[in-house]
Amino acid sequence: NGTRERKPEWLKVRLTTNENYQELKKMMRSKTLHTVCEEARCPNIYECWANRTATFMILGDICTRACRFCAVKTGLPTELDWAEPERVAEAVEQMGVRHAVVTSVARDDLQDGGAAIFAATIRAIRKRNPFTSVEVLIPDFMGNWDALKVVMDAKPDILNHNIETVRRRSDRVRSKAKYDRSLELLKKAKEFQPQIPTKSSIMVGVGETFDEVVEAMQDLRAHDVNIVTIGQYLQPTKKHLKIERYYTPDEFAKLKEIGLAMGFSHVESGPLVRSSYHAHEQVKSAERN
Ligand code: SF4
Ligand code: SF4
Repeated sequence: NGTRERKPEWLKVRLTTNENYQELKKMMRSKTLHTVCEEARCPNIYECWANRTATFMILGDICTRACRFCAVKTGLPTELDWAEPERVAEAVEQMGVRHAVVTSVARDDLQDGGAAIFAATIRAIRKRNPFTSVEVLIPDFMGNWDALKVVMDAKPDILNHNIETVRRRSDRVRSKAKYDRSLELLKKAKEFQPQIPTKSSIMVGVGETFDEVVEAMQDLRAHDVNIVTIGQYLQPTKKHLKIERYYTPDEFAKLKEIGLAMGFSHVESGPLVRSSYHAHEQVKSAERN
């Protein structure tokens, strides 16, 4: 469909590598750990790993949902491993990760959506790595706010939940998730633990307008969200949702400016920005606010 040929210049990543990255890479190989960084072939891996930020996927790699932008396998998951939190904590320790992002597939098959494993993972990482900040990027738990409370009680440094797209495109782009339910989750998280910064992410280029992106940012602010990340959608395979438009670096810069003026403590906006990109800096800026 020609999408690849049309990829603009600013999306081509220059590969740089340094010692930190090489060191982590070696450790990952020897431990056969799973990071989203590697599995999603994230273009930021060199930079993030050099900054000792990594994203770990818990609760297996089969998702009960099938969002049209996502390359994760859909099916009925079987994995529920109570040893997993400790394994992640060990990996964080051995890799010397300073900012650990923990995320999962949607586990609608579990009554608590996996909340208890999230909470246990936060606690296990903390115990072994008192100086590592922990960010959780959680699914919506189907609106089970008791499950959300279990996660918040474990006190992550950042609570992240993605709205992914603007209101009008939400039902088309995501599967089972609801725009308003996601906003409500972010607000509830803040009510449970007012001191914990909340964060969300929007991918652009899936058929929304620029103004709708600004509206989505306003909705996030209206639900007390502190940090927003905005990045270009890239089609994982030809079967996935097609890219409607590439935003220019200037447009990303404009969105950042608008977001900061709205009162976000941190806005990460750029073609290659992903949810956990520069996450270690967001902890610092959230602390300052
Ligand atoms: Fe990993 Fe997230 Fe960084 Fe990508 S942006 S390399 S997934 S930590
Ligand atoms: Fe992918 Fe998350 Fe959607 Fe599952 S819920 S398909 S992991 S984006």
